[in-house]
Amino acid sequence: MSRVEFDSIRKAYGPTVALAGVSFTVSDGEFLVIVGPSGCGKSTLLRVVAGLESPDAGRVLIDGADVTPRPPKDRGVAMVFQSYALYPHWTVHDNIAFPLKIRRVAKDDIARRVRQIADALQLTAQLTRRPRELSGGQRQRVALGRAMAADPRIFLFDEPLSNLDAPLRAGMRREIVARQKELGKTSLYVTHDQTEALTMADRIVVLESGTLMGIGTPQALYDDPPNRFVAQFLGRPTINMLDAVVRQSDGALVVDPYGWRTSSRPAGAWPAAVEVGVRPEHVQLRADDDGRWRIASQEFLGDKVQCVVTDGPRQLTVLAEAHAALPIGAPVAPEPRPDRLLFFDPPSGQRLRATV
Ligand code: ADP
Repeated sequence: MSRVEFDSIRKAYGPTVALAGVSFTVSDGEFLVIVGPSGCGKSTLLRVVAGLESPDAGRVLIDGADVTPRPPKDRGVAMVFQSYALYPHWTVHDNIAFPLKIRRVAKDDIARRVRQIADALQLTAQLTRRPRELSGGQRQRVALGRAMAADPRIFLFDEPLSNLDAPLRAGMRREIVARQKELGKTSLYVTHDQTEALTMADRIVVLESGTLMGIGTPQALYDDPPNRFVAQFLGRPTINMLDAVVRQSDGALVVDPYGWRTSSRPAGAWPAAVEVGVRPEHVQLRADDDGRWRIASQEFLGDKVQCVVTDGPRQLTVLAEAHAALPIGAPVAPEPRPDRLLFFDPPSGQRLRATV
């Protein structure tokens, strides 16, 4: 059992507010990814759980116990860093064994445990090597192995894959998730990479400027974002955002000046001027000789073609099926799926909810 509660955490460095009152709960066994742009407070939040920073206000509770005053070693957490933080002159074996040595575990038990961990992480052949003799991926596995040897209640990951190249990163993402599911340990994982968040998380927390902007499963935040920031932060290519005016007509909602119609109705009072969001994969392009939109550019991606279409002042990114691709300059009508239109309040960026 390891549930982590953040209760109104505030932290400032001089005039810089790193965390502006953050509250949420991580469930037992959950893999929770904290994501956001550089400087949004992700590492600070992780360091507050680890006990490496103390908050100016608020509490961290682990399994209901307030651990805010406790030193790092009494919190039952182990951290995996981007920089690996391995001892360069020690072998892989000794790096992994370190947490067991400081706990004065018996020598035979240490040897057995290190062997088990090395097996699980495919490091058996490297046990006598030093970190400089390893690839980046192997170093990161040693760092993970050392965290596993500590047998913590909670794993903390601070951008662990940032130093790895893209193919290796994809493999390590799967490996970390697989180990986490096997061990069933509550894990908090910090990254600025939205792909890591979407692919790895049970749930995601999106931070901006020290404020929690959204929390939910990857699919819930992607399909049903609470605000513009979350809508734009998650998903590549980025969601399209267009200024629009909405009006009701014959029980439908008409989105002008595009003439898009949706059967949803505003839940509550909406302003007339809105921002409409639609993801590139939810727009179809129909050849239309009278159309005002033209295909401005396209990139072939294999099964899809990423097109930019424009009507002059506005642009839309569209992911079209490759077999249905049209030539550059072709007149088209972009047709978003009506049930996939998202509406936002322009000044606040808050989602405007609709009922079907
Ligand atoms: P992230 O991990 O999302 O990149 P951080 O948590 O590292 O963000 O930092 C949040 C904000 O707090 C940033 O503006 C950063 O410059 C500032 N900050 C972090 N640590 C310190 C520190 N030790 N001294 C001064 N400012 C800091």
